[in-house]
Amino acid sequence: MKSRQWKLKARPTTMVGREHFDFAEGEVAAGEGEALVEVQYVSLDPAMRGWLNDAKSYVPPVGIGEVMRAIGVGKVVESNDPSLKAGDFVTGMTGVQTHASAPAKAWTKIDPSLMALPRWLGILGMPGMTAYFGLLDIGGPIKAGETLVVSAASGAVGAVVGQIGKIHGMRVVGIAGGGDKCRYIVDELGFDAAIDYKHDDVRAKMREACPQGIDVYFDNVGGEILDLALASLRKKARVVICGAISQYNSPSFVGPKNYMSLLVNRARMEGFVVFDYAPRYAEAVMAIAKWHKEGKLKAREDIVEGIAQFPEALQKLFRGENFGKLVLKL
Ligand code: NAP
Repeated sequence: MKSRQWKLKARPTTMVGREHFDFAEGEVAAGEGEALVEVQYVSLDPAMRGWLNDAKSYVPPVGIGEVMRAIGVGKVVESNDPSLKAGDFVTGMTGVQTHASAPAKAWTKIDPSLMALPRWLGILGMPGMTAYFGLLDIGGPIKAGETLVVSAASGAVGAVVGQIGKIHGMRVVGIAGGGDKCRYIVDELGFDAAIDYKHDDVRAKMREACPQGIDVYFDNVGGEILDLALASLRKKARVVICGAISQYNSPSFVGPKNYMSLLVNRARMEGFVVFDYAPRYAEAVMAIAKWHKEGKLKAREDIVEGIAQFPEALQKLFRGENFGKLVLKL
């Protein structure tokens, strides 16, 4: 089977772009015990930028000449394993390509009648799992009445974090770029307040929105906003290090200065990698699907059409141009 594929050509040192990839045709086949999938949607995630760096991380970097790593959803077209049959829908590490083959056990069967395919990359996919375990496990135990602040709040992870916080009775403050995103998280998602980091005085707004200080800060962006949140912690606060998107394309990574606030406030700062929670994904999928059905948790996708658009679509994440979970429709 011919597969149109985006392969890594050169490693970016600043903003990732078209010049770092080759778009070519390759051959894929279902080997023994494998299933061949026609990929329908590919998830575009900030983590993809990190996977391009030649550095030690939680997964090895994508090799030069390799298909760009990505999570996707698609339909099985051929299977050499009894656990899957042609016509089944699955999710897994498809890569940015039109067809992908992998051992049957590497694919997870999904039910498109429960939710539309792109949603299996959003609230029921990696971002939803990240929000659920990041807030409830790393940020927990959370209590009604506590103040939760989340950055990149209108995005795939942030929007779910804030809504789960509301479901648990927290006071939720979101930080996002621009009026539209700030209005969306308050008016549509029910957050208590929003801070527009591009136009507001974040320090003053944070003090105003969190008069008692912050109990849980869920950090998606790092940099200056992390430092401002650290300066506003309450006693026994939890700082969840989920990501640092403000730093991913920067040649010099800036870390926090205000970390002594952890000592003063007997607070905790902890990072996590969502893939460690894979054995518990079913728990999160069931909870999120239930909240969604009850109208307590909304989903929003930003879908870019056409595999040829991959590099520019990926850049949208780092320019704040996506509004909701960014997905590439093949
Ligand atoms: P997303 O929020 O849907 O999209 C990225 C958003 O980040 C942009 O829309 C933009 O929103 C914001 N952003 C971009 N550049 C920024 C900057 N310089 N300063 C502040 N904000 C900036 O992405 P996502 O998939 O939900 O990922 C959010 C974070 O979670 C990322 O850091 C990602 O790496 C992390 N993550 C971690 C794990 C894990 O296992 N630890 C798993 C998944 C994701 P604005 O327009 O509001 O600026």
